[in-house]
Parts: sequence; structure tokens; C-alpha cells
Amino acid sequence: MAVSYLLWTLFIFSIIFSLQSNSQEQQEEEDTPITRFQKYLRINTAHPNPNYTAPISFLLDQARLIGLTSRTIEFVPGKPILLLTWLGSNLNLPSILFNSHLDYVPAESEKWIHPPFSAHRTIDGLIYARGAQDDKCIGVQYLEAIKNLKSRGFSPLRTIHISYVPEEELGGFDGMMKFAASSEFKDLNLGFVMDEGQASPGDEFRVFYGERTPWHLVIRAEGIPGHGAKLYDNSAMENLMKSVELISKFRETQFDLVKAGKAANSEVISVNPVYLKAGTPSTNGFVMNMQPSEAEAGYDLRLHPMADPNLMEKRIAEEWAPSIRNMTYIFKVKGNLRDNLGRPIMTPIDDSNPWWFIFKQAVEATGGKLAKPEVLLSTTDSRFIRAMGIPVLGFSPMSNTPVLVHDHNEFLRDTVFMKGIEVYESVISALSSFEGVSAQVI
Ligand SMILES: [Zn+2]
Repeated sequence: MAVSYLLWTLFIFSIIFSLQSNSQEQQEEEDTPITRFQKYLRINTAHPNPNYTAPISFLLDQARLIGLTSRTIEFVPGKPILLLTWLGSNLNLPSILFNSHLDYVPAESEKWIHPPFSAHRTIDGLIYARGAQDDKCIGVQYLEAIKNLKSRGFSPLRTIHISYVPEEELGGFDGMMKFAASSEFKDLNLGFVMDEGQASPGDEFRVFYGERTPWHLVIRAEGIPGHGAKLYDNSAMENLMKSVELISKFRETQFDLVKAGKAANSEVISVNPVYLKAGTPSTNGFVMNMQPSEAEAGYDLRLHPMADPNLMEKRIAEEWAPSIRNMTYIFKVKGNLRDNLGRPIMTPIDDSNPWWFIFKQAVEATGGKLAKPEVLLSTTDSRFIRAMGIPVLGFSPMSNTPVLVHDHNEFLRDTVFMKGIEVYESVISALSSFEGVSAQVI
């Protein structure tokens, strides 16, 4: 009895196991939007050595199947930009561009529940992978949406471009920055651009109309060196510490606005100390009876698009690093706050921008809702395009999804991914059918 029971149990288990592995294999073999997303995610494009050849060849295959023309442009050797195009019927109208980046940040495999480059899909539909949210989802959704539009017989009035750029995670300097400044970019005659956004834990989709601009500031103090026992004015350390105090006070006033609920984090100027460098090194640390002649500190500043860059620099020159206290300053990075026409670098989200209205309606037509438009806390490649005076919205349609950008266990739910395709179908068809606005700059 016991033996037959055991055999019977083993038999049942073997059936369950074979059914499970069959469905797993089937899932792998099928060619669906989800499996194509998984394949794209499995191509490891993590820094410090992203493979740019493999994702481009994957995307070129997809583009060929869908019937898009393609072009690869290389401004820096080994860092290609892929541009796919669907020609519109009216070539005189400015075109539209959908951008995403090819690279992603590294992942510490051992801290993930599923390997970060396996794109494992759980039984309840969560696809775990580095890049699932940032931003390989949109890179595939653009193509899937176009594929569906083509199969429905849709033809665009305006030309649609899709760009896949390298190096975004390193600041975009060898990617979008060079592309946006090129004649190839100018020749696209862009009227409107969409780029990546961020997930939203709530029901609404988030949308970004601007970003804070980074300034990386180094302040430096010099003074007469002296004995550690002597009290005297104008030592380098004393001068630097005075500035550190002033900067901390400024930081507090900005942070207080956030704490009091008067402003969002992205609406203030943040200034955070990132390093301090001073002292005279000795064999076991630092010389303790000597006041050094040099001291410096590094700060990461992020400025809201409406911040006044001249006023900020005046504050730095007169209060944070004044020459009267033997101080100097340099910027390691100093992003622009004004576009090529002298306007704050942000995309209008009112009646003055018809693209905003069309985009919003297109999202709502799919039953989606938009949260209050935001300024992004950090930066994306959008800033290089906005700086050219071209309107850009940052948008990745991921509602009911925790924000896991650059985090362990980054995932996207399959149904959220599929909904995103539907949203882009609506957005791409509406934007590419828009007849107005002939000028590039609004
Ligand atoms: Zn990104």
C-alpha cells in the first residue's frame, strides 16, 4: 500500500513538473511583445563596459520586420546612436522623436531575488531585470506600438523617429549631447520629442516638463600655514569652515521649504557636500600640530529651471568663495539654465504648447490619467534637446509600480508593460497626425 502510494505521488509530481517545464519552454519559445522585451533586457548593456553592438543588432532586426528605415551614427568610436524612421506623408511638417538610452547602470547580482540580466518573469507577471524600468521598457514599447499601428493601416502625417542613444547613465556627453549638437539632429527638423520618465506608485502616470540642472562646485581656501597651537586669522581651514557654515545655512533654508510642504524636492536648489580635502598627510594619518595652507570642499548643486544662474553665481563668488577670504572656486560641471533663446529650459504645459494638449488627450483616451506635471529631481538626456528650444516631455507609462530606478530588484509588471504599448499607440498616432505648428520652436 505504502509503495503504491509513493509511486502514485511520484507519478503526479512528474506530470506537474513536465507541465510546468513545458509551459516555461512555451513561454520562452513564443514571440510576443513580452518575450521580445525579455530578449532586449537580457542583452547586458551595464556600465562600465556596455555592449552596444548586440542591442543595436536586435533593434535593427525588429525595425526590419516592422518596416522602419534605419541609420547608425557614431560621434564617438564604439558609442553608436541608432535612428529608426517612419516617414510621414507631409515632409514639410516638423517631425517627432521618441528617445531612449541603450545603456543601464550596473547591478549587484547577489543582492537580487532573480538574476538582474535574466529578465525572469514570475508566475504573477513581474519581470525582474536591470533596465526593466530605466529604460528598456519604452525602447521596446515604441516599436510594439508602431507595429500595431502599421498592422491597423495607420499612416502618419508627420515623420516619426525613434532614437537609441548610448552613455546616458554617464551624463550623455558622448551620446545625446553630441547628437543634439550635430547637423544630423538639426536635419531631423524636430517639432516635439518624448523621452524617458519614471514609474508612479499610484494610479496616475507621471510626466516631466523640466529637470534640475547640475552644477558641481569646488571651493578652495588658501592661507598661511601655522603651528597647531597658534590662534591667528585667515588660515585656510578657518576660511573654508566659514564657507561650509554659510553653505549649510543656505541648504537648510531650501530644505525647510520642502519640509514645510511649500515646495517639492525638485523645486528647490539643493546643495550637498560631497567631499572635504585638507590636512598635511603623515605616516599614520595627518600631522596634528600644523594648520594647513590649503583646504577645499566639493558640492553637488541642483538648480530648478526657474533659478537665476547669475544670482547663484554671485552668491558663490561673494559669500561662498570670496576672494577677500583668499578663496577661489571652479565648476567641474556647470549645466545651462537657459536655452538657445535665453528662456528657462523647460517645456510649457499650458495652452501655449499644443503638443502638451494632444499628448494629454491621447493618454486620457486610453483611460490613463496624468499626475501633476513635475520637474525631474535628477537629469536625463532631455536637457540637451530642451536646450535647443525643442519641447520635450519625459514619460514612461508605468502606473502602480514602485520607483526602482538604479535599485536592486528593478522590475516591471507584464500587464503594465502591455498597457504602455496601448498608451504609446494612442500618443504616437495623435502626435503624428497633428496638422498645426509649422515652426520648430514654440
Ligand atoms: Zn534612464
